[in-house]
Amino acid sequence: MRKVLVNEKNMAWVTCEKCSNTSSVDLSNLSKISGSIHIINYKCVGCATVFEVACEFRRVNRKEVSLNGSFIQQQPMEDYAGRIEIIDISKTGIKFKTRVKYNFKPGYILKLTFTLNDGRKTNVNQIIEVKWVSGQIIGGEFKNQDQRTKTDIGFYLMT
Ligand SMILES: [Zn+2]
Repeated sequence: MRKVLVNEKNMAWVTCEKCSNTSSVDLSNLSKISGSIHIINYKCVGCATVFEVACEFRRVNRKEVSLNGSFIQQQPMEDYAGRIEIIDISKTGIKFKTRVKYNFKPGYILKLTFTLNDGRKTNVNQIIEVKWVSGQIIGGEFKNQDQRTKTDIGFYLMT
């Protein structure tokens, strides 16, 4: 049986065994427990062949949070800034929600500032690259992370 990885938007790309047509499948109706595997009956959009696919949700050390913060857009320079709510954090990236919809696109560079709800109320300044946008929800990857921030977030994820 074919195995595919489910990405952060709960989508998986499946290639048909018969006609090699590749298309995405939306798995957001499944339970999104990291590391879990679901077997689905996939119907090829090209040739209508039905076959089983094992879909694996990525195992990530991710923490669901609700932290207030702000962003300043760095690239392209458009001087956008606003308030955000951090939804989850992992070692490599972050998911957050903006109050209103901005026209972010993958590749945009933002500077985020937020405060962790740890004992020390650690203040974090972090550059991210936008990886995906879904309405007011943005997924980003940490860029140029300094050692202190790496340590602060690593420690926060363990608590
Ligand atoms: Zn096919």
